[in-house]
Amino acid sequence: MINIAIIGAGLSGLTAANMLKDRFSITLFDKSRGVGGRLATRRSHPYNFDHGAQFFSPKTDDFKAFIAPMIQAGVIEPWEARFAEIDGRKVTQQWQWDTQKPHYVGVPGMNAIGKYLAKGLEVKLNTPVKSIKQIGENWHLDDEHGNALGAFDWVISTIPPKQAAQLVPANDPVQQILEATSMSGCFSVMLGFETPLPLAFDAALVVNENISWISANQTKPGRENSYSLLVHSTNKWADAHLDDDREDALKYLCEHASEIVGHDLSKAVHKSIHGWRFANIEKQSGPSHFCDAQRKIALCGDYFIQGRMEAAFTSGKQVAQTVLSAASQGNTNA
Ligand SMILES: Cc1cc2nc3c(=O)[nH]c(=O)nc-3n(C[C@H](O)[C@H](O)[C@H](O)COP(=O)(O)OP(=O)(O)OC[C@H]3O[C@@H](n4cnc5c(N)ncnc54)[C@H](O)[C@@H]3O)c2cc1C
Repeated sequence: MINIAIIGAGLSGLTAANMLKDRFSITLFDKSRGVGGRLATRRSHPYNFDHGAQFFSPKTDDFKAFIAPMIQAGVIEPWEARFAEIDGRKVTQQWQWDTQKPHYVGVPGMNAIGKYLAKGLEVKLNTPVKSIKQIGENWHLDDEHGNALGAFDWVISTIPPKQAAQLVPANDPVQQILEATSMSGCFSVMLGFETPLPLAFDAALVVNENISWISANQTKPGRENSYSLLVHSTNKWADAHLDDDREDALKYLCEHASEIVGHDLSKAVHKSIHGWRFANIEKQSGPSHFCDAQRKIALCGDYFIQGRMEAAFTSGKQVAQTVLSAASQGNTNA
């Protein structure tokens, strides 16, 4: 049986793996402790924070069909948030999200989606892939200590382009594709309170500030009740400050968010910060994925399309279709 290594168990890698698993032997590798990538949830009892993706509104029938079994299983539910837009430190628009145009979240955390999709798959966690080399007909993967992770017929990389570029030699033809795109960062500030804040919204899009998003995570369905406020910086501010001292970034973003919401957030009893170096990417106009069927290497991920969950799904699905047809034809063209 043809064996395929998929690097990265985020939404795109898990989507591709599920489409390929019946025909091929699939092994996923992820450097993290859990699956899901940027569909991430951090727990610090009694607080819970989805510190990566917040919610999604499916657009295509394909994506709606993909999430339908997860809605059925209670892994995805609509978030009926009181939503606000904030500009100039004032709420400029406000409405209630409802089931007419659902805004979905994973339950009890965004990471539940990755866990559901990984069921029955072979996933090697805590396993950063450091290099991939083609020797003869096979792709050989090594970890950071130079230990062999196995030899595979095909390799599919789903990791952000800058990270993928480090896996292959500088003169490899895929470098051209990987160098053509760059992603921006984001800080997630996580604040837990003993008593709820009297905010007029559950989720707010903030414009014209160094903060882009503020939400009360416990208002999402299936969460524990402890008041858990999540703040995202803008991509621009993160890109300029990712190498700053994290305590300084936390202090600044906390003070800045306090000014926006009109409450002193420094009173939080839990405060932490996560810096995403590769959080997001603007809408792209090129292909949804890359596949070199002769060399049996493929690339996918949200970065081909846009920094959105639906884009990660689409890229993962389309790379799987291309690999499926190339591998089935004995590989010459894709
Ligand atoms: C702060 C933030 C907010 C967001 N908000 C939203 C939102 O509200 N709505 C929305 O639709 N989207 C949102 N997104 C974007 C969404 O999360 C992504 O589009 C989607 O999750 C990307 O999936 P992916 O599979 O392409 O990549 P990833 O989820 O990044 O998966 C890549 C995986 O590769 C692993 N990896 C990396 N390097 C290696 C290596 N060398 N070896 C092994 N494994 C490796 C990583 O651990 C990761 O699990 C947000 C993202 C962030 C960061």
